[in-house]
Amino acid sequence: MNHNIAVIPGDGIGPEVMQATLNVLECAVKNTDVRLHFSHYLAGGCAIDKTGTPLPEETLSAAKESDAVLLGAVGGDQWDSLPSGMRPENALLNLRAGLGLFANLRPAVLHKELAAACPLRPELTANGLDIIVIRELTGGIYFGKKERGDTWAYDTMYYSEEEVRRIAHVAMKTAMQRKKTLVSVDKANVLESSRLWRSVVSDVAQQYPEVALSHMYVDNASMQLVRNPAQFDVIVTENMFGDILSDEAAMITGSIGMLPSASLGEGTLGMYEPVHGSAPDIAGQGLANPLATILSGAMMMRYSLGHEAIAEKIEVAVSRALESGARTKDIAIAGEATLSTTQMANKVIEYLEV
Ligand code: NAD
Repeated sequence: MNHNIAVIPGDGIGPEVMQATLNVLECAVKNTDVRLHFSHYLAGGCAIDKTGTPLPEETLSAAKESDAVLLGAVGGDQWDSLPSGMRPENALLNLRAGLGLFANLRPAVLHKELAAACPLRPELTANGLDIIVIRELTGGIYFGKKERGDTWAYDTMYYSEEEVRRIAHVAMKTAMQRKKTLVSVDKANVLESSRLWRSVVSDVAQQYPEVALSHMYVDNASMQLVRNPAQFDVIVTENMFGDILSDEAAMITGSIGMLPSASLGEGTLGMYEPVHGSAPDIAGQGLANPLATILSGAMMMRYSLGHEAIAEKIEVAVSRALESGARTKDIAIAGEATLSTTQMANKVIEYLEV
């Protein structure tokens, strides 16, 4: 089975964590009938330097034609003074819009071995944590009508039934692959758009009778995430609430270097990237933790390429590497020996091969 992957390493630590991930993916498909064909493209600051634009047309059209897009990170101080629209981050927005990616999946997993990095009391996360936040990505208040006057401003939270329906299906399908429970987060006691959200999600739920759906107000959800995070498995919510809650859930796991993400649209094409940025402070030093990108690669195998067993194999290898004590600097406790980016990837490869 052949798959074409558009690889966009980007800036800063992007190329380092990407190379580590490609090595892991190559190893994960060895001795299977799966063939991954990686083609490299420019986006972000490096694309501005070489082509004058953060997202060259060649990159967008290659991404559209690929089976999946794997992205490192973009951005850096040297491009910060450019006008908005020309900045590296525009590559991400335009890729998401150009590929029609409306669902952002962000797992927040606390590995038991890294429990010390969690800022919550140990008894709250005694068995680790495994939550996935599904955020609507292209609607809501970030994209609604907005206006600014001399002494006033407004933003509009707009949702159509169809926008809610399609993300609800993604959430239900994800819940079906996991523990079959789903919490839909809204503010239906105040917002009209949330009342629509709640009624459409409930309607879609009728098609998934095995999924136990509950609704929670966003203020309560943000409190429950730190009071008793283990009660959650899959959370679905609109764009702005998801932006905030996914960062809160991520913080519970302690390290930004561990968190993958997937952005999905109607078909199987998706974009996979670590949650972290280009980390210019550690770029080029071999200090970057490659696990967020490696785990994004596992999500790509699961959601876009349909190879669940290979995805699980990669995730298990990452867990085993952590169990064996493998640590990059960001997840090490003071005094612990640390591995470089490449050494960490090689540890994962070691456990893939056993
Ligand atoms: P950042 O995520 O790049 O870094 C925040 C801190 O976390 C830094 O101390 C960094 O060293 C550390 N860190 C991040 N990833 C790590 C990893 N894999 N291993 C070890 N440590 C890691 O966020 P920032 O400093 O706010 O942003 C830096 C640049 O990245 C900016 O230009 C920003 O616009 C861009 N950015 C890009 C994306 C993206 O490409 N998706 C996301 C966020 C920020």
